[in-house]
Amino acid sequence: MEMLPFYNIFNEWYAAQTSKKIRAVWQSKADNGKRVSSSVPFGYVKDPENREQWLIDEPAAQIVRKIFALALGGRGPSQIARQLEKENILIPSAYYESVGRKHSQKIPLNPCAWDQKTIVHILENRQYTGCAVNFKSTTVSYKVHKVIYNPIEEQQVIPNMQEPIIPEEDWLRVQELRKNKRRPTATGRQSLFSGLVFCPDCGAKLYFCSAKSLNTNQEFYCCSNYRSGRGTCKVHYIRNVVLEKIVMEAISDFADFVRCHEPVFLYMMAMKNKAIRKAEFKKMQETVEYGKRRLEELERLMDKLYEDNTFGRLSDDVYERRVSKYEKEQKELAITVSEAQAVLDKAEQKSLDLRLLLRTFREMTDIKELTPTLINSLIERIEVHNNDKSSGHCYVKVDIYFTAVGMFKIPTEDEIIIMMEEIRKNPHEYRFAA
Ligand SMILES: [Zn+2]
Repeated sequence: MEMLPFYNIFNEWYAAQTSKKIRAVWQSKADNGKRVSSSVPFGYVKDPENREQWLIDEPAAQIVRKIFALALGGRGPSQIARQLEKENILIPSAYYESVGRKHSQKIPLNPCAWDQKTIVHILENRQYTGCAVNFKSTTVSYKVHKVIYNPIEEQQVIPNMQEPIIPEEDWLRVQELRKNKRRPTATGRQSLFSGLVFCPDCGAKLYFCSAKSLNTNQEFYCCSNYRSGRGTCKVHYIRNVVLEKIVMEAISDFADFVRCHEPVFLYMMAMKNKAIRKAEFKKMQETVEYGKRRLEELERLMDKLYEDNTFGRLSDDVYERRVSKYEKEQKELAITVSEAQAVLDKAEQKSLDLRLLLRTFREMTDIKELTPTLINSLIERIEVHNNDKSSGHCYVKVDIYFTAVGMFKIPTEDEIIIMMEEIRKNPHEYRFAA
């Protein structure tokens, strides 16, 4: 997978901002490969001119986009399935039937009865981001000495194989949300923040309490380890309406700052991530590239040894010694490569997260109310500290961790002026087009 250095996206967004033209990133990555799988996911269709190529099947793609939008809005697979059924949307096999395309599934009595498994399958399919995902088949001739890789390594992701239906950052965010499954409360009411609010003392999720006897003004959160004072933690009480107000203010302030001072914001991000951006990033990339090449070479060398030994060209003694030497190198290298790969993947994730944050800020104008999609795109985690009543006032400290950014303190005007000066003096340092 081609890696995008962290600072490239600053540059890219900056350029997009000035030219008001968002580049189609998927076209610029000119990585090539071949797709192994032949089945076309719902939303695409094989190009009649070139059977290797997929085209967007617009009516089906619209359903796929709808499914992802609902998931970003915090709905689970069964809720999404019910919603589609309510709107009389045909399931994939029924849709194929209706347009006269071949398919292998039986159509149920109700052609709009979506199965939640189908939804999960769609939500987890990375190919909607435009890539091809191949599972590397491990046909190893030399069976005893197989390299152990992490699971990511078993997948080969080839970007830009077809036009994307879902932006990559949205796809990744949906995977994150799915890891953090939400449970509706007894009353069926769900808080905007469910799954995102934690206790900073014990690390547990805060429990959203919404009994039938409570009106929405009274709904509250408390630490799930509090248990009415009989548990192991303090109460960490906050009313939902109060939390909504705090989060709303934080988002508005942050959005205003980014909108007015985007170069300054990007500069701050660049400074914060400098350590892993510059020196390390390149080194890591080289480590991974060299490591992979060397691992392939070792595989070949060991095959050769095995052959030489089998045909009597090499004594068992020498064979054993050499093999164990190669094996040792192989093991160590496999660890180094997967560690470096993990760092690169994390950097890639971070840049995608930042893209999502910036895009959300750009698209939102005046916010009048918080929506699940807004929350899920912008906020990673909220921590509610325990009530401090010692000062006589009821004072709650809330920490908000934003996507890609974490906790963020909006700089003062003086600080902003200093940074603007820095940017003006060293435009190349951050590759700003200024
Ligand atoms: Zn706690």
